[in-house]
Amino acid sequence: MIPFNDRSGKMWLDGELVEWRDAKLHVLSHGLHYASAVFEGERVYRGQIFKLAEHTERLAQSARILDFELPFSLEQINAACNEVVLAAEITDGYVRPIAWRGSEMMGVSAQQSQIHLSIAAWEWPTYFAPEARMKGIRMQTSKWRRPSSDTAPVHSKAAGLYMTGTLAKHAAEAAGYADALMLDYRGLVSEGTGANIFLVIDGKIHTPIPDCFLDGITRRTVIALARARKIDVIERHIEPCELGNAQEVLLTGTAAEVTPVSEIDEHTFVPGLITQQLIDDYDAEVRR
Ligand code: PMP
Repeated sequence: MIPFNDRSGKMWLDGELVEWRDAKLHVLSHGLHYASAVFEGERVYRGQIFKLAEHTERLAQSARILDFELPFSLEQINAACNEVVLAAEITDGYVRPIAWRGSEMMGVSAQQSQIHLSIAAWEWPTYFAPEARMKGIRMQTSKWRRPSSDTAPVHSKAAGLYMTGTLAKHAAEAAGYADALMLDYRGLVSEGTGANIFLVIDGKIHTPIPDCFLDGITRRTVIALARARKIDVIERHIEPCELGNAQEVLLTGTAAEVTPVSEIDEHTFVPGLITQQLIDDYDAEVRR
C-alpha cells in the first residue's frame, strides 16, 4: 500500500494546486492537537462528483458548528473539487476536502487561528470487498456509544467524532468482523462507524432518527429511492432487540454505497429483494 503522503500528482491547498508530496502542515496546528477539523467524503462516478453541492454545504455547516467559517465560498470549493478530480484524472474515485484551524494559537481557545482547506482525490473502487458486498458484511455491536447532541457536535462531520469510531472498528476487526454497530447514548441503534443503517421488517424499511449522528447524504438518497418504489420508510427510534425482527439489514454511505449486512452479533440476515433493488437503484442514480 502506498502511504497517502507519498504519492505523485497534485492536490489543492489553500487556494491552489500544489504537488501532492508538498501539501504539508506544521505539527503545531490546532486541528491536530484539539481536533478542530471537519471533512467530507465524496465519490466520483464517471468523472463526476455525486451530490457535490450537498457535500460542500455540509462541509460549511460542519465548520460553522465548530465555530469557524470556511475562507472560500461554496462556489469556489465546488470548483476546486472539480479541478482536483480533473488534475488527478479520476474516473471512479473519492474526494476528501478537509478544513482545520492552523498554528496561530496553541491552546483550547483558538479565536484568531487561520482556517486552512485542502482537497485531495484518489482512485477508489468499493469500500467493502465486492464479494462481501453481495454476501453481506458481519458486524459486532461496539461498547462505544454515539453521544447526545449536548455532549458533542453530532451533526458536524468533525474529525474528533471519529475517535470512538476508530476504536469501535478496530475492536470489531480484531474479532473478525467488518464493521461495528454503534448504539447511541440511550442504548438505541444508531449507525455503523462510517455509514447509516436500515432494517427491513416485513417489507417495510425502518431506520433510526438521525438526532445524534450524521444524517447521511446517501441515507437521504436511499430513502427517496425506496419511497419512489412505494416502499414505506419509517424513521423511528429502534431498540437493539428489534434486530431480531429484521429480515434484511443494510448500510448506506458515500464510501459504503448500499452494503448488505449478514450478521450483527447473534442476529443473521439474508440480503433479499429490497436490498438488491436499492443497490440497483443507487448504482443507477449515481451514474445518471
Ligand atoms: N455516519 C458516519 C459516521 C459517516 O462517517 C458517514 C460517511 N460520511 C455516514 C454516516 C454517511 O454519510 P454520507 O452518506 O453523507 O456519506
